[in-house]
Amino acid sequence: MCHAFLSESSFYQFLFHIDQDIANQAQLKGCVHCGGRLHVAHYPRKPRGMLCTRDGTYESRLSYCCANDHCRRRCTPPSVRFLGRKVYLSSIIILVLAMEHGLSTNRRKRLIERLDLYPQTLSRWRQWWRRVFPNSHCWQANRGYFIPPVDHAQFPGALLGRFTGNDLLQRLCQLLHLLIPMTTTSWSGSLKG
Ligand SMILES: [Zn+2]
Repeated sequence: MCHAFLSESSFYQFLFHIDQDIANQAQLKGCVHCGGRLHVAHYPRKPRGMLCTRDGTYESRLSYCCANDHCRRRCTPPSVRFLGRKVYLSSIIILVLAMEHGLSTNRRKRLIERLDLYPQTLSRWRQWWRRVFPNSHCWQANRGYFIPPVDHAQFPGALLGRFTGNDLLQRLCQLLHLLIPMTTTSWSGSLKG
């Protein structure tokens, strides 16, 4: 099944390790405003729609606070797991929406039930992908790489299909990487890897 990895804890660990690596890089660079040292100040999170037991790594969004008394500003590094303050993992929503045309109605219904997704939630995400994302700075900066143009009405599935990874997991990671600038408003910088 194309979404089998949603039930594997290794998938969630994999994304967590990427977030950890991004966060480590951000912490090493220090405060983007004053260059001060960054102290750990993770945000508590209760993400929904995960198919396997959690080990606690998803109960926080990695974040820092500047240690400089005159600054004290927040630095929340980008994430491949959390899109802003939204409670559903970006990867889950991308896959469920991308599967809209490929799964039988019953199978899709069962998956949505297992993920604890409300129809309204899915519909809001569909709107985000088809109305908000196409107008975002992030997409405007990247759209030129996709020729012929991707049909916004088919987002995110059509976009996922344009990546060149060997399998669905690789293509998903490429799409999550493209989304990275949209996952935070309190950090800017370049990332390695
Ligand atoms: Zn600072």
